Amino acid sequence: LVVDGKAVAKTIRDEITVDVSRMKESIGVVPGLAVILVGDRKDSATYVRNKKKACESVGIKSLEVRLAEDCSEEQVLKSISCFNDDPSIHGILVQLPLPSHMDEQNILNAVSIEKDVDGFHPLNIGRLAMRGREPLFVPCTPKGCIELLHRYNVEIKGKRAVVIGRSNIVGMPAALLLQREDATVSIIHSRTKNPEEITREADIIIAAVGQPNMVRGSWIKPGAVIIDVGINPVDDPNAPRGYRLVGDVCYEEACQIASAITPVPGGVGPMTIAMLLSNTLISAKRIHNFE
Ligand code: NAP
Repeated sequence: LVVDGKAVAKTIRDEITVDVSRMKESIGVVPGLAVILVGDRKDSATYVRNKKKACESVGIKSLEVRLAEDCSEEQVLKSISCFNDDPSIHGILVQLPLPSHMDEQNILNAVSIEKDVDGFHPLNIGRLAMRGREPLFVPCTPKGCIELLHRYNVEIKGKRAVVIGRSNIVGMPAALLLQREDATVSIIHSRTKNPEEITREADIIIAAVGQPNMVRGSWIKPGAVIIDVGINPVDDPNAPRGYRLVGDVCYEEACQIASAITPVPGGVGPMTIAMLLSNTLISAKRIHNFE
């Protein structure tokens, strides 16, 4: 079974479109997302463009601030503070990575937790980690992974889950989310001695490593469900751009053994953007007390 992230993301965007217009009609509020892009990395510019397009497609207002690569940290902090105070903005996103002369922690800490639609503020991550606490926002990529499992009726409770990768933006929050849903979770990282053996125990695998085709067929328990977060360019002279994108999981091998798997592209990627829109809508609803 192919887990069709593109189709699920489309369904979610349609649901969001309905809610956005319902909100506009009944209380006259349009959800607003502010995106801060520092420097001129091509990949970052593409991500920001896609996020803005996605906002447009569901009726969310988006605003972009572009700052030069060599601007000061204070300038970034100033933009954040403006948006923190702007009642027409419900979500603030600072596109990462930031230029190396800036302190990422300082900058992420400055985003109001009520508008932290990326869910990267330490207070939101801390609440995610604590039992009995609720974060205001959950980071978009891991939230998209769990949403896919839900929409495909994959039982999480009581299952063995393995997350490969422990980054702040994907692996770590994915593991916390699985644990909140009562899975028994193992986390594999670059110092793990026997990743293959541990992965083979898993009913659910979330791979977020950034290593093309690392997870081979022999790593997978028959019937496991695989969510492949990896987006890795590999050379391909036959592809129009000279490269193509592959996941962290060897798809050809895995699809023979797994019961369900996300493709790359068309799996987690579209879900990430859908969750950003969802978080922005959630924020606007919460701020305006709209159900
Ligand atoms: P990252 O910050 O580079 O983290 C990679 C993690 O994988 C680290 O925890 C690292 O371990 C671990 N790792 C690296 N090599 C390993 C190995 N050989 N064996 C076991 N663990 C290993 O990457 P990220 O930001 O989490 O992204 C991971 C992948 O997801 C990338 O391909 C990225 O492009 C993709 N991604 C996709 C989306 C989406 O929307 N679909 C969003 C974000 C990222 P250590 O902690 O020990 O260094």
